[in-house]
Amino acid sequence: MTGEIDNLPGSQYPTNSEWHAMMYPEWTPEHAEKLFNQYVDINFNSCTKEGLARALHAVQDSYAPGHENFAPWHGTANATFPQWVKIIIDHAWYDNGSYFTRDVRNITKNMIKKWSKQCECQ
Ligand SMILES: [Zn+2]
Repeated sequence: MTGEIDNLPGSQYPTNSEWHAMMYPEWTPEHAEKLFNQYVDINFNSCTKEGLARALHAVQDSYAPGHENFAPWHGTANATFPQWVKIIIDHAWYDNGSYFTRDVRNITKNMIKKWSKQCECQ
């Protein structure tokens, strides 16, 4: 379910970079981090399944290679060929879950636990 976030309308727009723990090139890393935290909080606290999926996806993406430290996301439209190849390779790695270390699995598990507790009465 969290994988579907990458295919939502607008999901790959550079201006929605915080959905994937990345940075629109005109932002500072601090601004990207602030938007990312807000995005995760708002979605997590919405107590909807879509909100949980969005929050989990953003947090999981923050551990993916190529996303570290709010890497700038330019979108694919103006990418040079080498940039484009790198995006494809990083994403192949990302999509088969190779970055899914035990830490990321534990963080995911704990977020779902917390969400269930917090949202069960709604
Ligand atoms: Zn993503």
